[in-house]
Amino acid sequence: MRPDEARKQSGTAGEKIPAQGARWRMPVAERPRFIQLETVTKCNARCPFCPQNEIVRDPARMPEATWRKIVDDTRGWGVTYRPFLTNEPFVDNRIPEIVRYIKQNDPTARVEFNTNGELVSEKLGAALLEAGVDIMRFSIDGFSAATYEPSRVGIAYAKVLERTVRFLEMWDQGGHRDRVFTEVRMIEVPENAHEVQAYREFWGPRCSDVVITSLYQWPWTGQRPEDVVLKPCLKVLDEMFFYTNGKATLCCWDVHEKAVIGDVNGQSVQEIWEGYAARCLRAVLDDGRRDLIHLCSRCNAYQEFDFGKFAARG
Ligand code: SF4
Repeated sequence: MRPDEARKQSGTAGEKIPAQGARWRMPVAERPRFIQLETVTKCNARCPFCPQNEIVRDPARMPEATWRKIVDDTRGWGVTYRPFLTNEPFVDNRIPEIVRYIKQNDPTARVEFNTNGELVSEKLGAALLEAGVDIMRFSIDGFSAATYEPSRVGIAYAKVLERTVRFLEMWDQGGHRDRVFTEVRMIEVPENAHEVQAYREFWGPRCSDVVITSLYQWPWTGQRPEDVVLKPCLKVLDEMFFYTNGKATLCCWDVHEKAVIGDVNGQSVQEIWEGYAARCLRAVLDDGRRDLIHLCSRCNAYQEFDFGKFAARG
């Protein structure tokens, strides 16, 4: 769950943690419900707020045997697969094949994408719809080249606009409205706030939903030790994240492999999910002790979320 979604669900201000240290019992799923796969490490943009371009991983492309194993290990679990991590998914030209493989013989599987839209050509869009994609989210942070291009460096706004509109036309005219969910979303910042209304009016009739969200902060992007939020985390309850090399990490924000919990090359997905490393890290987070986990020790996600209903003692 993204921190901005949690803020909406919480609806209350952050609670005060008692001096003696509160503990929570967070509802961890028996199996992951969402699985992200970094099928490639690359992105077509160089956004200043995103550490994606710092990633150097070997291999840069997830081997076929690795992504197939992750999917095979989890067939029939009702998983929503996201074949991307911090990368742009459609840099990988195998994506339609991966979607087909996921959806084959597994009616419980769903596939969703977050994309900047630039690489979604008419041919790719048709292939995705044919392969059975379930959710397409287009991240378009502005309603003009002037507001969009400084934040999505390297991408032409006109091309994103043209390709996203065309995909949505194909989705609408091809009779996919009832089966495929489409969303266009914008992170609202002072530079584009004046465009929100026009953005809603333009995209609203063209897609399933328009979302205006607030800016979030990645861990280790300027937070000081005293900024750490001594609370549990919602991100570790039902989501799993795999790098191109087959290692699994605790968090999708872990671009530098600080919190690896297993490796699908030698373990099953279930073994990793229930493994010692994952259980230890979740237990520490259930104690609100993010400061004891290197990755989490500079993370202020979910700081406004009310975890009161999960308190084991208080
Ligand atoms: S860095 Fe740690 S505390 Fe922050 S969202 Fe990721 S797992 Fe949760």
